[in-house]
This record gives sequence, structure tokens and C-alpha cells, in this order.
Amino acid sequence: MFNALLLEKEDDRTKASVQSIDEARLVDGDVLVRVEYSTLNYKDALAITGKVPVVRTFPMVPGIDFAGVVEESSHAEFKPGDSVVLNGWGAGETHWGGLAQKARVSGDHLIPLPEGLTARQAMAVGTAGYTAMLCAQALERHGTAPGDGDVLVTGANGGVGSFAIAILARRGYRVVASTGRSSEEPRLRELGAAEVIDRSALSAPGKPLQKERWAAAVDCVGSHTLANVCASLHYGGAVAACGLAQGMDLPASVAPFILRGVALLGVDSVYVPRERRLRAWASIASELAVQTIEQVASEIALGEAVDVAGRLLQGEVKGRVIVDVNR
Ligand code: NDP
Repeated sequence: MFNALLLEKEDDRTKASVQSIDEARLVDGDVLVRVEYSTLNYKDALAITGKVPVVRTFPMVPGIDFAGVVEESSHAEFKPGDSVVLNGWGAGETHWGGLAQKARVSGDHLIPLPEGLTARQAMAVGTAGYTAMLCAQALERHGTAPGDGDVLVTGANGGVGSFAIAILARRGYRVVASTGRSSEEPRLRELGAAEVIDRSALSAPGKPLQKERWAAAVDCVGSHTLANVCASLHYGGAVAACGLAQGMDLPASVAPFILRGVALLGVDSVYVPRERRLRAWASIASELAVQTIEQVASEIALGEAVDVAGRLLQGEVKGRVIVDVNR
């Protein structure tokens, strides 16, 4: 038996509770992992609260990421005792995820715990930090370089935003953080932001073309914010778009694309090919100071996940939330 947060559908509502589950219910996958830590991402909060239909089948164990130790394996690459990490691949959406003491998954979806990181530190980074690195790498593949000008990060106090600031500042960019919580300015500056602006400057409908302000941007927010970011990128600039905290819509015009040649780079962390995952995690392990990782994260027990999920969607949580599934 093992403990898991289980989501069940009752009268069209999602019911979430910690339950003791028989290991025999873990069916799909050639690797059984003893989970040490999982995390609470924005998507997990949507799944747990049932606010958006993230979960495809019920009952479901949520948790889009986890770090742990292999207990059983018939996969060629992994053996018992190996430390592993999983991000995405439908965990917590189409098959049981990481908010549990055990998970059975396909070994093709696992990567070795990056060298230099503990399981707890890997989950402090989690899908959010890994997505922030994918965004930085997408911008650099586009050709963005530190000398080009300011780089904007929206949703700055969130998990992706916090890590995007730290990663870009460490790489030499002048980072401008956009937030709705200006009281957190000292924290954002400590992470590496050179300037902090209020998100209200970006969140209302704006003109299709605006003053060129940003060489590049990481956008966690979508909607009018992303439209305004596109409209205020430098000629040839780029935005790595990964989130929808303001909304899934994109009320933009083609003007910035056809008149300034700007690029909208979509970033998905769930089904990214393995090589790109390994590269992102290797960069995280080599570039991010342990102190920065710890600074961004707080820790909760499995039983607290439901309450914190609600607060996360209210924008009351800052940085990353690690879940100790064994407490
Ligand atoms: P968090 O909840 O930690 O952070 C989201 C942040 O967005 C908040 O902290 C807040 O920052 C800002 N925000 C919240 N509501 C609004 C609003 N109405 N208008 C403008 N800003 C708002 O989430 P994550 O950092 O984990 O994820 C950020 C986004 O990226 C989410 O939409 C998530 O689904 C997405 N995501 C996508 C991935 C992918 O594969 N593409 C992977 C991981 C995340 P502040 O208080 O500073 O304003």
C-alpha cells in the first residue's frame, strides 16, 4: 500500500483526498519508482481544483513531475537504486502522476537525476524551472544575446518567472520583471531582476504596434499581456511563450510579425524530445546556484496540497512548492 492524492469525479465535481492505495493498481509502465518529492505546478492546481479539465480519466493521481529512486525496472536503461526525474509526458493528466509515494511509468519518460542535484533540489526546480530553461534556450536558438537589450519576464513571482529571471540574469541579460505583487520587488531583485514593473502596464488591451522596448521576453501569462509584449519587441526580437496565467486567448494583430519581423516561440515542456530535456537539465545543474534553487522553493506535506492548490490559483503563492510525499 502507498499514500497518494487521488482525484475522483463526483456529481461533475473533482474530489481530492489522500488515500492509501494498493500497489496492484499501478499498471502501466516498465519502471516502478519510489517517489521522494513531487511539486505543485499551476497545471496540478488546475487538476486538483477541477477548474480546467486537465485530467483526462478518473480516478487520477495528479502531479506532472517527481524525483525518486527506481524500485523495479524491466527497462534497459534503469535499474533498482537509480535516482530519476520525470517531467510531463501526460503524468497527472492521462496516467497517474507524482503526488504519491509510488509511481509506475515508462522508462522512456525518465531521465537520470542530473548530476550535482539532490532529488529535493531537482523538484525545487521542477517543471517550472525546466520550462524556464527551455524558454531561455529557445530565445538563444533564435539568436538573442545579452547585448541586445532588456529581456522582459512576465508572471515574475511564479515558478517559471522566478527561475527565468535567475537563469537569464546569470547569463548576463538585463532582466525586467513584470509582476502584480510589487511588494515582492526585493525578492525579484535578489533573483537577478534589474528593474521591476507593474503587470497592469501590460495586461489591458493595447495598440497593435508600440514603442520598441524589449529585445526578448519570457511570457508566462498569455492574453493581452502577450499581445502587448509582441507589440513592443525590438525589430527582430522574440518572445518565448509558455503560459496562460492571464488567459488562453491571444488578442493580437499580425503587425509586429510582418512589420518588425518579431518571432513568437512556443515552448512546451510536456512532450519535448529527450535530447532537449537532457540539455535543459544539464544547464540547470551547472548554472543555477543551490542557494538560488533553495531561495525559490518552499515545502509542504502531501496532505497540504489541496489547500495550497487553491491558493496558488489565487496568485497567493510565490516561487515553487515542493511536496514531500512521504510526510
Ligand atoms: P505560478 O502560478 O507559479 O505563476 C503564475 C504567475 O503569473 C503568478 O505568480 C503571477 O505572477 C502571474 N499571474 C497570475 N495571475 C495573473 C493574471 N490574471 N494576470 C497576469 N499575471 C498573472 O505558475 P507557473 O510559474 O508554474 O506557470 C506559469 C504559467 O506557465 C502557467 O500558465 C502554466 O500553466 C504555464 N506552464 C507551461 C508549461 C509548458 O510546458 N508550456 C510548463 C510550466 C508552466 P505575479 O504575482 O508576479 O504577477
